[in-house]
Amino acid sequence: VSESYQRIQEVDEQVKAFLTLNEEKAYEKAKQLDEQKLNDQSILFGIPIGIKDNIMTEGLRTTCGSQFLRNFENPLYDATVIKKLSKSNTVTIGKLNMDEFAMGSSNENSSYFSTRNPWNTDYVPGGSSGGSAAAVAAGEVFFSIGSDTGGSIRQPASFCGVVGLKPTYGFVSRFGLVAFASSLDQIGPITRTVEDNAHLLQALVGHDEMDTTSANVDIPNFADATKQDVKGLRIAVPQEYLQEGVSPEVKEAVLKALKTYEDMGATWEEVSLPHSRYAVAAYYLLASSEASANLARFDGVRYGVRSEKAENMLDMFKLSRSEGFGDEVKRRIMLGTFALSSGYYDAYYKKAQKVRTLIKQDFEKVFENYDVIVGPTAPTTAFKVGEKIDDPLTMYANDILTIPVNLAGVPGMSIPCGFSSEGLPIGLQIIGKHFDESTLYRAAYAFE
Ligand code: GLN
Repeated sequence: VSESYQRIQEVDEQVKAFLTLNEEKAYEKAKQLDEQKLNDQSILFGIPIGIKDNIMTEGLRTTCGSQFLRNFENPLYDATVIKKLSKSNTVTIGKLNMDEFAMGSSNENSSYFSTRNPWNTDYVPGGSSGGSAAAVAAGEVFFSIGSDTGGSIRQPASFCGVVGLKPTYGFVSRFGLVAFASSLDQIGPITRTVEDNAHLLQALVGHDEMDTTSANVDIPNFADATKQDVKGLRIAVPQEYLQEGVSPEVKEAVLKALKTYEDMGATWEEVSLPHSRYAVAAYYLLASSEASANLARFDGVRYGVRSEKAENMLDMFKLSRSEGFGDEVKRRIMLGTFALSSGYYDAYYKKAQKVRTLIKQDFEKVFENYDVIVGPTAPTTAFKVGEKIDDPLTMYANDILTIPVNLAGVPGMSIPCGFSSEGLPIGLQIIGKHFDESTLYRAAYAFE
């Protein structure tokens, strides 16, 4: 724990991953753990961990990267995943920067500051869990927790050269995760190695009656899966994942990875996910619609900051929201409110839901004949700070390869698979069947 804080002191001025540190309580916990060390067998014992700032931590400030919650110093309860981590005896080092309410792909939508890519601080770390990926890549913490609605664990993991998993929808409890788009959000682990990732996921999964979408399924031993080789593994490579828009260097690294799999006895074939070209459009309608409903709770009364300029109640709602939310959040609330409004519901929201079903069926069809789907995590490596921030549509397009996975509810993982000529990490995405994280770990570990 002390090495972790020392490292933060050394590098966080440049990386800017942390929004809030938990120093006092972390040392207290570490001391407690030191005293009970001898009879504790748990594998995560004493591991310093960082938490994305949209996950509720009792008594530890939780801002979601938003000015709206800058004074939310004292959340009253822990998210289920925090309770579980506590039981596993990890030590929470602090809260990690993110795009405001998890909306963004570069961390530049944080209302505090932008986290930088530890490999080169002129570049973004990705988003929205950019703080979580950067902190692990920079060695500030061993493990971190992120959330992924449309790619927010996998894309920053790819940009920062670490291992990130978005679990199957329903595998990890969302209780205490500040909701962005409830039908897509999942919490997941970010680590340096695949094996670490398997151990951390093990601590996070499990049925939770506090989350009505939490699945009650058997839980395998994920680390065991890494012991099996990939002989006979059937890999599908969607042609849509290697088309224009994907940079030549990324494509080359992915093809090289596929060659490695071949050499290890796996086979791969090209397949099609024909509806994935509609995924970005469907996602931004659905996610924004859900966000417009979820973010209605920020009204200046129940949580966070209240405008001081208001003279009556209606103004208080309006001004608190106008002052508290940043531009991207407002853009999504407006888009979502429009898409759900009467007269437009059928044309936009309902149509997007139908597209979502088609995308899900694309995956089901491929998984009839293959064990995993492999492709790039993102079309490019990390881009420069400031390069895309004025053009939301280009920013949205960066999520094209991660979003279909959330729409289908299946698990997806990003592992490092090389570097660009600029020295920036490239991510390989491995996608699996519902609740088949074991096969993802098996495939990822063999490659690593
Ligand atoms: N970048 C995507 C968005 O802005 C995904 C975000 C996420 O997964 N939380 O919505």
